[in-house]
Amino acid sequence: MPNTVVMKFGGTSVADAQRIKRAAQRIVAQREAGKRVVAVLSARGHTTDELINAAYEVSAHPDPREMDMLLSTGERQSCALCAMVINDLGHKAISLTGSQAGIVTDTSHTRARIVDVKADRIREALAEDKVVLVAGFQGVSTTKDVTTLGRGGSDTTAVALAAAVKAEVCEIYTDVSGVYSADPRIVPEARKLHTVSFEEMLEMASSGAKVLQLRSVEYARTHGVSLHCRSSFGDAPGTVVVDEEQTVENPLITSVVHSVDEALITLTGVPDRPGAAASIFTALAEAGVNVDTIVQNEPKGDGVVAEVSFTLSTDDLAAAEAALGPIRADLELAGVEVDPDVGKVSIIGAGMRSHPGVAAKVFQVLAEEEINIEIIHTSPIKITTLIRADQVPEAVRALHKAFNLSVEDVQAEGGFAEQSR
Ligand code: ASP
Ligand code: MG
Repeated sequence: MPNTVVMKFGGTSVADAQRIKRAAQRIVAQREAGKRVVAVLSARGHTTDELINAAYEVSAHPDPREMDMLLSTGERQSCALCAMVINDLGHKAISLTGSQAGIVTDTSHTRARIVDVKADRIREALAEDKVVLVAGFQGVSTTKDVTTLGRGGSDTTAVALAAAVKAEVCEIYTDVSGVYSADPRIVPEARKLHTVSFEEMLEMASSGAKVLQLRSVEYARTHGVSLHCRSSFGDAPGTVVVDEEQTVENPLITSVVHSVDEALITLTGVPDRPGAAASIFTALAEAGVNVDTIVQNEPKGDGVVAEVSFTLSTDDLAAAEAALGPIRADLELAGVEVDPDVGKVSIIGAGMRSHPGVAAKVFQVLAEEEINIEIIHTSPIKITTLIRADQVPEAVRALHKAFNLSVEDVQAEGGFAEQSR
């Protein structure tokens, strides 16, 4: 529908009564500027974490269907409260659950994928001049159960709705004012990026940047949704995610991204025969474990065993260990070593595609800091190193500096770098 915008507010932006009111005012301001507004809200503050804890307090293995019934309530609270404020401000608002909003998903509880968006009810409400508030992070499965979309899933709700109602933009309001060249808590002089390409954003989201759920970026790219990540606490423009041809800054390196929520699993004594890797990674996939970098060392000489290492998020560690139990017995592995103290530092930039020497420079910089690299992994626009978790901040700072990522920062952005020093 013409003139429609989707505004998504993250958990910190609706954390208390004051912030809900502020979000409501922003929504109303858009309405008064002549826009039709669909707002997607996250659960308030730490609500989702608290609900997860509540589940584990009563059950060691909470039933996934019931987990989704529980978790979906967080975003419903935010929407109902915000609708109350908007009504009090003299506008018409209606809150909808994901299911009422027509978000249909597959049946994988706690990590469902959207398969269809039937946004009729949203369109009707918009046509009646209502602001529509949709509970993020949830839908209804093809078998009519409530599902949730995985942590950070409200971003994907927002993008999916923006595609369904053909919104002119999907605005993601958070507590940071955009996407930065590095985490400003580690690098105070990090620069806010005005634009990033979808390819870069995908790599950033999959390397630990928490601004957007990875799936929401994939969805936006596939459906041509324009994304704007901005602060809910100010009016300054944030970061716009655009097609690569539209990036105005075309730097060699865009950002340094890190994650310390990583673990490394090494399987030793893996039989060197066809099918071994297939059975290991099938078992992990069936357990819903998202595996990142995989390295296999081919044994030299007449050896009959190989070593297979892979990284994964610490969130998936318990599931991975459980899935590897039977595999260890089946394949008669020598050992399963788990190292939870690793971190990942990646540098990302579309410009490196056509530029030799970037990897060499990364390794040189880390060597000067005496940081040992355990695993290296690259894509055409990303170089990732796996290092000790406690060395991640120095690595991020050193790389940010070596690649001059803060140039033109302070004048351009005023404030942020100064304040956080
Ligand atoms: N409340 C959910 C979470 O914390 C979804 C979201 O906020 O995007 O992951
Ligand atoms: Mg989020």
